[in-house]
Amino acid sequence: MTFKVSPKKSLGQNFLINPGIIEKIVAAAELTSNDKVLEVGPGTGTLTKVLVEKSGMVVAVEKDRRLIEDLEAAFSPAQVRIIEGDVLSFDPVVAGLRDNEYKIVANLPYYITSHFIRTVFEQWPQPILLVLMVQKEVAQRIMAPVRMAQPGGKPLHTNLLALSVQYYAEPRLVTHVSKGSFRPIPTVDSSVIKLIPRANLPLAAEQEERLFTIWKACFAGKRKQLINTLPSVLNLNKDSVSQLLTKPKISPQSRPETLSFEDWLTLINSL
Ligand code: SAM
Repeated sequence: MTFKVSPKKSLGQNFLINPGIIEKIVAAAELTSNDKVLEVGPGTGTLTKVLVEKSGMVVAVEKDRRLIEDLEAAFSPAQVRIIEGDVLSFDPVVAGLRDNEYKIVANLPYYITSHFIRTVFEQWPQPILLVLMVQKEVAQRIMAPVRMAQPGGKPLHTNLLALSVQYYAEPRLVTHVSKGSFRPIPTVDSSVIKLIPRANLPLAAEQEERLFTIWKACFAGKRKQLINTLPSVLNLNKDSVSQLLTKPKISPQSRPETLSFEDWLTLINSL
């Protein structure tokens, strides 16, 4: 496949060329002609084209100026509103995207994955759902607590992104995607995930803030055992922290990445 412009690695430009994967992404978004879709990084418009066919309206935010002219030539403004810019400084409200009234579909540039997901959940009007192409390793971590719930599941290793996603949404794996589905071929494998924002968040605002403060402190020193990190963040002595952890059968010597989302909720609720 040849491109009019040479793909930029720094912008995560690995374009999808596998129609089967595009079909799976669009099916997971459960689009109807009433849906408004925000696409991050339309690129050369391959996914955009199918989104236009299946939805009522697409807003597409693309950072690479070199692609804008071709996108504008390919789609009418009635079909796609193309916005040139960085999605991380994009204001969805100005583009008419309101709480529970739009869906996000994206083959994400991987360098923004964590920042983008956090921005959507913490600052944006909530979408009905998100269907995202992410690095396979990121998807596996996000799905880790779910996998652990199954008997015989592999040991889980979460991180701050995975736990935050669990807090705000219900994650599902749509499909794994081989490297050959992209041009240029990337160095890492990918997966499509679907995130459905929770109608009710698990904690009240004050406890939520406390949990995120604890997570940030624990994952800043993720090789450290909880018994060494928690006393200062909870303002308790080691004995009290030890008691707090052993009640729900969490070893004080555990490292933060080995606790499931449910373990953290139990812990915060017992404070
Ligand atoms: N949607 C196309 C596809 O599936 O073939 C392209 C996906 S490519 C992985 C990522 C796209 O996001 C590129 O077009 C890239 O220029 C764009 N992009 C990179 N950083 C961006 C940012 N911060 N805001 C908006 N678009 C960005």
